[in-house]
Amino acid sequence: MVHISVVVPCFNESEVIDAFHAALITALEPTGSTFEICYVDDGSSDRTRGHLRDLAEVDPRVRYTSFSRNFGKESALLAGLRMSRGAVVVLMDADLQHPPELVPRMLELHRHGYDQVIAQRDRTGEGAVRTALSRAYYRLVRRFMDVEIVDGAGDFRLLSRRAVDSVLSLPESNRFSKGLFSWIGFDTVSFTYQNVQRAAGQSKWGGRHLLNYGIDGLLSFNSRPLRLAIHTGLWLFLSAFAYALWIIANVVLSGVDTPGYATLITAIVALSGIQLATLGVIGEYVGRIYHESKRRPHYVVRETDESTQGPSPADFTVGHALESVGSSRSGSAS
Ligand code: UDP
Ligand code: MG
Repeated sequence: MVHISVVVPCFNESEVIDAFHAALITALEPTGSTFEICYVDDGSSDRTRGHLRDLAEVDPRVRYTSFSRNFGKESALLAGLRMSRGAVVVLMDADLQHPPELVPRMLELHRHGYDQVIAQRDRTGEGAVRTALSRAYYRLVRRFMDVEIVDGAGDFRLLSRRAVDSVLSLPESNRFSKGLFSWIGFDTVSFTYQNVQRAAGQSKWGGRHLLNYGIDGLLSFNSRPLRLAIHTGLWLFLSAFAYALWIIANVVLSGVDTPGYATLITAIVALSGIQLATLGVIGEYVGRIYHESKRRPHYVVRETDESTQGPSPADFTVGHALESVGSSRSGSAS
């Protein structure tokens, strides 16, 4: 059995993949452990798939899976975890923002008995606005979420085999992996490293993508936003009630004629705003239920290193479709 599996999601990384591979091998070979590298090509439109195929051909320690289209990093991570066979699994990005030199240190910490080792980046070299926004976001998340999520702790982490198996046993199709990793528990340790800029190519996370990712994170781990809507509604109802009493008392006791329409409009606008927001929150959850209830596989595989003969239509396999059929009976992982 191999000792270390390194899982690397790649989306349009042809410019860096060779440099990354070389750096990773240089970092792993001195450790003396057996290892495998599981690349997942997330439907890249550049030469990434070809690069991976070439790497797998010359090096038996390289394995890869290629998706039929871009399914997103979370799906790629899932595919990589399913592929991995090592006793420990290291997840890292292909763009050299997760320095391979840190892997031996993570292994060392794992030997001290930790099931999860997180390498946490600081925020050097990042725009002030982005830093402030993410700080605020993580404060919000900490308040609202039932699981703990650390600022700067991305997907650069080491998981023990039992941690990987627990992550894989979670059946949800909306996979916010930062939350899942935190949810499974086990002894976790983290250390900080200095943020590095991407070696080449471009980041795939624009502002909109990040916002959506943020909303996902907030909603996928609890129903507290629904609770918040209920609380707001109750407080509003109480204050409106008090206000009505006050107006009635005024009319009855001192006979004042209250000019009404200004307050009326304020009340209507405020209330409809809150109603819309609440509806949005509910809609979001209903959408999620709909999404989960379809029980679709997380990705479709175009080719893997076991089926190197290129993409003929017969090779298109659906990612773990059989497993998810089986699990709808047993109620375990899909
Ligand atoms: N990635 C992926 N699928 C996507 C977007 C990104 O597999 O749809 C991979 C990408 O190839 C890289 C990692 O996820 O290895 C992190 O992406 P990126 O560097 O663009 O994100 P950032 O570091 O800017 O957060
Ligand atoms: Mg990056």
